[in-house]
Amino acid sequence: MLTYQEARRAVVEEVARAKGPRVTANVSVWDALGFVLAEEVRTDREYPPFHRSTRDGYAVRAAELSARATLRCVAEIKAGDSVTQPLARDTCAQIMTGAAVPDGADAVVMIEHTNRDGDSVRFERVALPGQNIVPRGSEVKLGETILSAGARLGYAELALAAQVGATQLRCASKPRVAILSTGDEVIAIDQQPGAFQIRNSNSVSLAAQVRLAGGEPVLLGNAADRVDALREKISRGLLQDVLVLSGGVSMGKYDLVETVLKNMGAQFYFDAVAIRPGRPAVFGKCGDTFVFGLPGNPVSTMVTFELFVVPAIDLLNGTRARDLALVEARLGAPLNEKQGLAHFLPARVEWRGTTPEVKALPWQGSGDVAALAHANCYLVVAADRGQVSAGETVPILLRKDVI
Ligand code: AMP
Ligand code: MG
Repeated sequence: MLTYQEARRAVVEEVARAKGPRVTANVSVWDALGFVLAEEVRTDREYPPFHRSTRDGYAVRAAELSARATLRCVAEIKAGDSVTQPLARDTCAQIMTGAAVPDGADAVVMIEHTNRDGDSVRFERVALPGQNIVPRGSEVKLGETILSAGARLGYAELALAAQVGATQLRCASKPRVAILSTGDEVIAIDQQPGAFQIRNSNSVSLAAQVRLAGGEPVLLGNAADRVDALREKISRGLLQDVLVLSGGVSMGKYDLVETVLKNMGAQFYFDAVAIRPGRPAVFGKCGDTFVFGLPGNPVSTMVTFELFVVPAIDLLNGTRARDLALVEARLGAPLNEKQGLAHFLPARVEWRGTTPEVKALPWQGSGDVAALAHANCYLVVAADRGQVSAGETVPILLRKDVI
């Protein structure tokens, strides 16, 4: 049985190996959050486009203030004003944040450090050349590549693209991820469940996780635990880049997913991982489609998606598989878990001062979605640990969707 690190590596190796040419599309910068750039972005202007004042105050020649404390104010420059006149000797210009500093001026003195009487401005301190001015072109140069192919587009990247006129971005088309739940007990969420039926919450969490990871969910509903039903739905899933199944991969008599996939020509890279929850997770390939068979218990489904499906979506987007967002925290209450499996426990981290402190939440095991909905991280207990004392440092995997 692979460790979760080995299983992740297997996913990364197989998906990276099979990566063919990607389909790309132009995406408006307004809609491109979460996309991955397929082409670099170059600037159409330098930035800032002029020497920009970072303060409300007075533009001056710094050297003049070491000789005298008072200058005559001859102009007012606000953001957006065209500035063509150089600053005359022994004068200053009132200037606003974001405005262009006139030629000749080499410093801006904050208004708080001045006293004004009519046109006369008295300066309470000397100025250093360059203070409170961002020079033209100091942030980005004209024609410079500011975002490379493979960059994941978050809000700062989108703002940067917008600054330099890139309103349409060439992006990787999002990998299409088919989502298929399985189980005779599972019904659509808009139906009224019978006493022993379960609403299909996994398809909801999986669709959300696919979106967060940068994929496009394709909902296939639910397949009953029968070979014919599974074959029919799986064959539809195999039209997509990735097929994620939930349920039907354990050892029960009606856990048919792996067998059906095998009979449909799938090749498997692993069919169990040394983790709890999530041990029966399966990863393989059928035709050109990567297939993940995730256990149906909701928390297992969520954990195994984070660990194994996210890196596949990254690679199919043409970017590197992101690292797990593991950070260290101080354990707030002792733990006693079975050794041999790495545990991912629903937990809450809180920052008291700057030190994160984490506590596992009470839970009923891998079916307990309510516990995970109160969690903002998973507490990771290494397979060789078992007992961990309060005060020890432990790794936690952040739930980036809620933190
Ligand atoms: P399985 O992995 O098929 O043995 O399912 C394990 C547990 O997860 C069972 O209690 C199922 O009822 C539950 N389960 C399976 N599929 C879903 C689903 N799509 N949504 C919510 N719970 C599910
Ligand atoms: Mg089942």
